[in-house]
Amino acid sequence: MNGMPQRCTSRSTPRPLRRAVTIVTVPLLLAGGGLVGGGGVFAGAAVAAERQPAPGAERADVWLARESFVMGTLLRLEVAAPTRAAAAEASEHALAAVHRLDGLLSTWDGSAEMARLNAASAGSSAAVSAALLALLLEAEVWSKRTGRAFEPAVGPLIDAWELRGEGRVPDGAALRAALRAVRAGVTLDAAAGTLTRNDPAGWIDTGAFGKGAALAAAADALRTAGVADAVLDFGGQIMALGRPADGGGWRVPVAHPRHRHQAVGELLLRDVSAATSGASERFIEVDGQRYGHLLDPRTGQPVPAWGSVTVVAADPLAADALSTALFVLGPRAGMAWARDREDVAVLFLEDTPRGLVPHWNPAMERWLTRTIQTERTLR
Ligand code: ADP
Ligand code: MG
Repeated sequence: MNGMPQRCTSRSTPRPLRRAVTIVTVPLLLAGGGLVGGGGVFAGAAVAAERQPAPGAERADVWLARESFVMGTLLRLEVAAPTRAAAAEASEHALAAVHRLDGLLSTWDGSAEMARLNAASAGSSAAVSAALLALLLEAEVWSKRTGRAFEPAVGPLIDAWELRGEGRVPDGAALRAALRAVRAGVTLDAAAGTLTRNDPAGWIDTGAFGKGAALAAAADALRTAGVADAVLDFGGQIMALGRPADGGGWRVPVAHPRHRHQAVGELLLRDVSAATSGASERFIEVDGQRYGHLLDPRTGQPVPAWGSVTVVAADPLAADALSTALFVLGPRAGMAWARDREDVAVLFLEDTPRGLVPHWNPAMERWLTRTIQTERTLR
């Protein structure tokens, strides 16, 4: 059984945890892109905290916990290796990978490659590094597959709504101009290795896939360093590698879309990433009205706060991009998109006047450890 993927359905209970080393594991809480209350696998673990194997432990790994503030959010990782030095070195490689990706993808730091390309003159092609080009092409694939519900070229709409400032409701003309600029987008020429902005107002926003891209790079760095077991929490997106010290899988509670401190379900993850998108966490407020930070690129409007969607996929970039896309699509169209996909597990939590209504596709059955608790069962 050990080494086998966990197969838990919403009806079954997870198998008992295997004893390995003595640690207290407080679960992570996936909540619209955030960890709740500072708890989590890492609760009580100081930066670079170390856990020594218990006497007689089956596995002699040392677990090392690290934290770093990067990409505007907190990255926490916990890594197992045969020695403390090996765990420290592997975690260094993972952190370096994330910082490297930030240097490629940041649209906040003017010296990052993406920020420089976003400022390049429109209409002329600019050289783009192979590493950034590969990520942009990956993002483009998910954008096409989701009918552009996930749209990296959403920048002009971010500006129109002033999502990076005080917030504003654009008038009709401003909205139409922004939509035109989004549709004009950028042209990626893979053969020539260039990017061309097709509208002076156009720019790429990496906010909806950058953390996922960085998690993919960090996971690769860890694997290359020989690490089989690790967990990373990057601003609420989880990358689970192998298993925790006590075996089984990584337990990741799913939060209520509005009451973020309330867990309504739990995932048991191995060798996959989980990302959640919702509208309760980040928003602007104009004239007493709240507008979420996720925009529908087809209409230019902020997506209403209908609930949240959690996506589990092997590729963290896909999980990140798809949680955004499926939040934009909403539970109906989103479920129609995801229903028959085996590689993408989705859990929609629809916040209705009658209470929380969960929907998940068959692929999600593998990761859910128990039935989602609705309002009725929670009270
Ligand atoms: P979070 O960063 O809160 O985890 P997401 O991964 O869903 O959430 O990404 C949110 C960011 O993506 C927004 O802050 C915005 O910069 C950008 N964004 C908003 N709407 C879209 C969209 N339809 N497609 C791609 N990016 C978007
Ligand atoms: Mg996302």
